[in-house]
Amino acid sequence: MRIIPILLLLIYLVSCKVKSQSKNKHDKKYDVSKTEDEWKSELSKMSYYVLREAGTERAFTGILNYNKKKGIYVCAGCKAPLYDSKYKYESGSGWPSFDRGIEENLEYDVDYKIGYPRSELKCNKCGGHLGHMFNDGPKNTTGQRHCINSAALIFVPANE
Ligand code: FE
Repeated sequence: MRIIPILLLLIYLVSCKVKSQSKNKHDKKYDVSKTEDEWKSELSKMSYYVLREAGTERAFTGILNYNKKKGIYVCAGCKAPLYDSKYKYESGSGWPSFDRGIEENLEYDVDYKIGYPRSELKCNKCGGHLGHMFNDGPKNTTGQRHCINSAALIFVPANE
């Protein structure tokens, strides 16, 4: 029976692939790490859905969409500074949009949730999902559009 060793090899290869994927996706250590129960008790329902379940709020529903005040947008999960109001612009998409972020606190990942690869943006301190990056941003600056859920952010006005 030659088929058994081949089957065993296949099973081994598949299990290696599963292991290496789970390492990339879930085993990354973040400075801020909490159990799902802790996140659930600290975050609003919508913030939990966005940050911890990679959900997306409905367009034009987020409270920071039209915010034009000066200040810093921090992570709603861990308070890491993520976006400066200087770089917020009106994209018309229905979500807060920035042409750049505070790079040291951002992590770029790829998600295939809707069938093709998109550049996912996450908080580099807690791993919370923020939104996505597209290349249809302002051509006169970076060309980037960081499309971010309001529920992933807390706005801290400049004078506080
Ligand atoms: Fe965070």
